[in-house]
Amino acid sequence: MERVISSKPQEEDVVLETSLRPKRLAEYIGQDKVKENLGIFIAAAKARGEPLEHLLLYGPPGLGKTTLAHIVAAEMGVSIKVVSGPAIERPGDLASILTNLQKGDVLFIDEIHRLSRTVEERLYPAMEDFILDIVFGKGPGARSIVLNLPRFTIIGATTRYAMLTAPLRDRFGAVHRLNFYDNVAMLDIIKRSAALLKVQVDESAAAEIAKRSRGTPRVANRLLKRVRDYAQVVARGMVTTQVAEAALGKLEVDQLGLDEIDRKVLLTIIEKFEGGPVGLDTIAAAIAEEADTIMDVYEPYLLQLGFINRTPRGRVATKLAYKHLGLHPAPESPSSEQGSFWPS
Ligand code: ADP
Repeated sequence: MERVISSKPQEEDVVLETSLRPKRLAEYIGQDKVKENLGIFIAAAKARGEPLEHLLLYGPPGLGKTTLAHIVAAEMGVSIKVVSGPAIERPGDLASILTNLQKGDVLFIDEIHRLSRTVEERLYPAMEDFILDIVFGKGPGARSIVLNLPRFTIIGATTRYAMLTAPLRDRFGAVHRLNFYDNVAMLDIIKRSAALLKVQVDESAAAEIAKRSRGTPRVANRLLKRVRDYAQVVARGMVTTQVAEAALGKLEVDQLGLDEIDRKVLLTIIEKFEGGPVGLDTIAAAIAEEADTIMDVYEPYLLQLGFINRTPRGRVATKLAYKHLGLHPAPESPSSEQGSFWPS
């Protein structure tokens, strides 16, 4: 079953997201530093009459990387082609994508850390010198031709910056990290989405949804939609605080936006592994979830809340996590260890 708080896109999101996606930079709420830098980056390129340099966006899913890529293309007045890293299977696939781009176009590569090695290597000269080496045949009889490409812009998105190779990272002119949104920005996002969806939401109900949306616009939009559906059935469409609380309670999303899987992760560390440290793969196996999902979707928010720490020996539950779950850490528990270790 798909989780309601999962920040990965789900089928039902597609229509919703397209309709709620901000189209211009001025409409994009929050991420002020990124927005300001991008605004300058775009204005400078336009003033020079040149395509934008390649741009890398990273951060947890659902924070607005794809949205920003579309906005950048719109602000530059160019077309955007969207692909996913693992979908470009062979160098031939890359060649057909690149040779179909017009000058200045944006090629958005989602999950760019999942490009195959051979495709990635072909991408280097394309990004750097806008040339493409096409090889025909194999072995000693192989021939190659070099194609000149129009100047285009790659916008790469990734949830795993650390998995990108150095040569790929080096080829981006700008790198921006998206962070979880604060409550003020989340409230604005919910109000904006409610207006677009024509849902009547009380200020305090919107604040309640904002608080439980894990600082993630995708989750906020999804919760808003669920609350709206609930309100339509039980409250003639009016979303009051009471209605929002009841709907969110039914979804088992707690006051901080944690759901059953978050709680399972924390309880596993605490109850099965005495508070940690315990490796991520071990946690994943214990709760029958994929390690990648835990790493991309659950862990970043638990780290942000300060509920777990990463140490060189594994994940550790903190006192805050015990408190949130209404548990008492054992006095000698390693959970009281201070000093987290953040790999780059
Ligand atoms: P990502 O590519 O990082 O997974 P998306 O760009 O697909 O995330 O964003 C998910 C949804 O969240 C979008 O469809 C959009 O409706 C909403 N969203 C994202 N960022 C913002 C923002 N800054 N302001 C308003 N809505 C946003």
